[in-house]
Amino acid sequence: MSLLKIARLGHPVLRKPAAPLSEKELKDPRTQTLIDDMIATMREYDGVGLAANQVHCSKQVLVIEARNTARYESAHEIPLMVLVNASITWRSEEKEEDWEGCLSVPYLKGKVPRSTAIEVRAFDRKMNKQDFRAEGFLAVVIQHELDHLSGKVFLDRMKDFSTLTHLEEYGKYWAK
Ligand code: ZN
Repeated sequence: MSLLKIARLGHPVLRKPAAPLSEKELKDPRTQTLIDDMIATMREYDGVGLAANQVHCSKQVLVIEARNTARYESAHEIPLMVLVNASITWRSEEKEEDWEGCLSVPYLKGKVPRSTAIEVRAFDRKMNKQDFRAEGFLAVVIQHELDHLSGKVFLDRMKDFSTLTHLEEYGKYWAK
């Protein structure tokens, strides 16, 4: 496994909608290696999710996992998930605003309103269909990662930039 370089804000790949994968592409050993490398990269940098275009591959692949990391100390745990060709088929009207950060937008955090519940249609890494409902922290992470695949970052979803905060000041004034 190898660690992948993360694209940072300003790199055009982050602003380009990612393409869906065919079953043949997904089963290609190169794609399976990419998924393993994405998991390793997410863990190395203490992320809770990573979209393929964040590692310069414009395909609809996401990996998500939350363990008790230093970066998300209060996060609920999420078991490792690989989501291929995912889309949100329903989202709640009800929204909650909470802090988000992003490996592609380093050193910054901001408050982002997100639906509190969603329904997701996706495939796993073997192209098995998986439709499910997600709530709370998992719903937030999926919305954040799916935004990446449509060329958006969390800054685009903020109501305004009044809560935009450097990590150091976040730790000093806002961390729970
Ligand atoms: Zn992100």
